[in-house]
Amino acid sequence: MLNYADKNRLAIFKNLCETNKYFNVGYPEDFDFDYSELKDFLDYSLNNCGDHEAYCNYVLNTFQFEKEAVDWFIRAFKGEPKDIYGYVTHGGTEGNLWGMWIAREKYPEGIVYLSKDSHYSAAKNIRMLGMDSKAIDIDQYGVMVYSDLAKKVDTSKPAIIFATIGSTARGAVDDVSEVISTLKKAGVKEYYIHGDQALSGAILPFVDDPQPYSFEDGFDSLTVCLTKGFGSPMPAAVALAKRKNLENISCEIDYIKSHDLTVAGSRNGFTPLIAWYIIKAMSMECMRERVKYKLDLAQYVVDELNKNGVKAWRSKNSITVVAPRPSEAFIHKHKLAPFDDSIHIITTAHNTMSSLDLLIYELLVDYDITLNSELRRSVVSKE
Ligand SMILES: *Cc1c(COP(=O)(O)O)cnc(C)c1O
Repeated sequence: MLNYADKNRLAIFKNLCETNKYFNVGYPEDFDFDYSELKDFLDYSLNNCGDHEAYCNYVLNTFQFEKEAVDWFIRAFKGEPKDIYGYVTHGGTEGNLWGMWIAREKYPEGIVYLSKDSHYSAAKNIRMLGMDSKAIDIDQYGVMVYSDLAKKVDTSKPAIIFATIGSTARGAVDDVSEVISTLKKAGVKEYYIHGDQALSGAILPFVDDPQPYSFEDGFDSLTVCLTKGFGSPMPAAVALAKRKNLENISCEIDYIKSHDLTVAGSRNGFTPLIAWYIIKAMSMECMRERVKYKLDLAQYVVDELNKNGVKAWRSKNSITVVAPRPSEAFIHKHKLAPFDDSIHIITTAHNTMSSLDLLIYELLVDYDITLNSELRRSVVSKE
């Protein structure tokens, strides 16, 4: 039991959480969830060490739920569980590390190509794995420039593509059908495509006209965050990869009489329950509606800013609205994530038109005070 002072600290912290629950307009976490039905399971030491498809001596695992959730995600990305394997990772970074590890074991000589807008963890993973890599230029919307890929690709070695499907800054989606045709045209014989779908993997399977995101589109592995878009209350992601490429990373674990295909040793047994809860509590139709709601909100923000002469824009199927950079005071007040001469506003599920109206109003006032019209025009227009 905690003493009085420590109890009090927790009470103060709880208050801070309650007050700031809806704070984020610069990050893609949603706060429209309720996991009270899962609370009991914090009373047990759940551990999903190893492969959820294998027998494991450690009884307090949530493998049955993990398998069901993973199969759902495999189908959402147009794969078949007999061809695709996956697991619930600690987050997007681990999912990307796993995908790149599988790629490196398949093509030890391969070179990684990734856009300059890729998440910072991509470079971290590449360093950890000791892989060679080349950064590819991006266009003004943050998308990989395919002609630069054609120019930089080494046709004598396998190409490992780290495609960004929803960039952190601009919500940019690299088009892997363009990537694949660029590689083929250049004469690359062997390639591996990994999709960093941390962000837009929570959008593209649920819209009418998606950019390429699925196994049918040519991905060999991909990762999608449960925190960004699905409403997981703690970091978690789903990582998926073709089974045929997994042989090289499998290892046996004697002391729990199982084997392991994952990056971690002990794995969180609670987050697979969250993944399962997400797919059970929300129907496909409900997910589609929720995504549409967020996309409509993003378009609303763009329209309102444009109407007032501010050159804000968003990419197709993106909830990330890019706008000119306001004052530091505004950025600090709203805990925004600035980049270059821009900021972004990410329209998550707990937002409403009226909550965004207030933000838009404050932003316009701030622009009038701090920016001249020259600066307003300097941010790229989507027209
Ligand atoms: C958030 C994010 C990641 C990293 O995910 P974590 O869960 O924070 O490890 C990777 N790539 C992109 C594009 C992201 O948005």
